[in-house]
Amino acid sequence: MEVRIADLGSVPRRVEFSEPVEGMNRQLALSPGCTGQHFDEALKVAAELQLCGDDVVVTGRLEGGVTGDCPRCLDEFFRDIKREFRLVVERFDRGAGAESSAVASHDGYRLDLSPLVVEELLLGIDDTTPCSEDCRGLCFGCGANLNRTPCTCD
Ligand SMILES: [Zn+2]
Ligand SMILES: [Zn+2]
Repeated sequence: MEVRIADLGSVPRRVEFSEPVEGMNRQLALSPGCTGQHFDEALKVAAELQLCGDDVVVTGRLEGGVTGDCPRCLDEFFRDIKREFRLVVERFDRGAGAESSAVASHDGYRLDLSPLVVEELLLGIDDTTPCSEDCRGLCFGCGANLNRTPCTCD
């Protein structure tokens, strides 16, 4: 999702979009520590964009989820993610020579929101949560998934 900087002003501009899974999965694959997870659902984003000097302030809310393994039973399940975020996107002229220190930057013409919202989604993933509160995990002896199969160790 790209916005034109010229369309923004000091009055917040509302945008709503959904981010398709293909691009999100590509970005996920490049993120360290996110192996074994993938997106099956588009990410829904509602945000307000406001120009503050040369910076773009993005405030919004995202709703989505990621499919990944349960740390206890290793079954795949869908983790819901809802997250509010606020980002300051600084202007950065590539021609100026200096490296930008900002996490997110725009070139004064266009701002691509897609990588920013996917990054926010990735920050919201907690891969230590089990598939359910009372997930019984795997038996250390026989390896049975105790949610489905009784232990055969005896
Ligand atoms: Zn589990
Ligand atoms: Zn067992």
